[in-house]
Amino acid sequence: MTQMGVASDTYLVGLIGRDIAASRSPWLHEQEAGAQGLRLLYMLHDFAQRGWDEADLPRVLAAMRTLGAAGCNVTYPYKQAVIGHLDGLSPQAAAVGAVNTVVFADGRAIGHNTDVIGFGEALAGGIGGRPAGTVVQVGAGGAGAATAQALMRHGVEQLALFDVDQARATALAARLQGQFPAARITAGTSLPGALAAADGLVNATPMGMAKLPGLPVPAECLGPQLWVADIVYFPLETALIAESRRRGCAVIDGSAMAIGQAAAAFTLFTGRPADRARMRASFDSFAPARAA
Ligand code: NAD
Repeated sequence: MTQMGVASDTYLVGLIGRDIAASRSPWLHEQEAGAQGLRLLYMLHDFAQRGWDEADLPRVLAAMRTLGAAGCNVTYPYKQAVIGHLDGLSPQAAAVGAVNTVVFADGRAIGHNTDVIGFGEALAGGIGGRPAGTVVQVGAGGAGAATAQALMRHGVEQLALFDVDQARATALAARLQGQFPAARITAGTSLPGALAAADGLVNATPMGMAKLPGLPVPAECLGPQLWVADIVYFPLETALIAESRRRGCAVIDGSAMAIGQAAAAFTLFTGRPADRARMRASFDSFAPARAA
């Protein structure tokens, strides 16, 4: 990657978002860089902590570019807002309408969406040869737009989207239907009915996070005919993952997406492949004290 003002084997990157002190991203990226003999400094730009808001996005992006940063990750709540301050989008980011990685190169800032890549890898590795023709997804927010995009690219034929904010499910279904006209993508009405006919379930709501305990679907809808993917990763063993295991479902926890998106972002920042197995070891060794 072309950088101004930083040595060629040294990378300055960061994360833009709110309340991101517990992020594993600095650890994942810095460990991988160290293992490859690179120097990489990953800074957290916590807008909540700094008292900044959305209006500060262009100023912060410009400051990073001035300092020669290779790029940055972007998280909640700026994945859409950042788009207006970029020079272009990758096909995935354009399709999702959200950016989680920005690369500064050749005088331009280009937005990417490695959440799509990360969840695609999680699916490919996690469901093996199991059927994935009919899938239910709960949660149609920022991350849900990326997981739904990855599901459609994986070959899902029928996708039913649910969200407590029905308008979000309807809007995402309409957007995806336009992009994948051969598939049937709907905003679902009956979750038990949709799950009874499904091969897989994806949780893209925050339900199951330590601060939001509980299940996003009724427990009695889970059975061995379903594979279940949860993208929540703090904790990894969510109530949904635990209950699904108990009921005989194949499960994919949130770590595979988190590692896949970080690995793809690492490659965008440095131009070098990331070792997924090594990144998983880093993910697993993340000290709980850092996540507190
Ligand atoms: P978001 O707020 O943009 O979207 C969440 C959506 O879920 C909203 O539309 C909300 O209305 C809906 N929702 C909430 N509770 C619901 C319920 N009980 N039933 C149905 N819908 C419900 O948040 P986001 O950025 O999309 O993040 C969602 C979760 O995904 C977070 O826990 C986040 O940490 C996780 N995430 C994981 C990864 C990963 O790499 N594993 C990446 C990104 C986000």
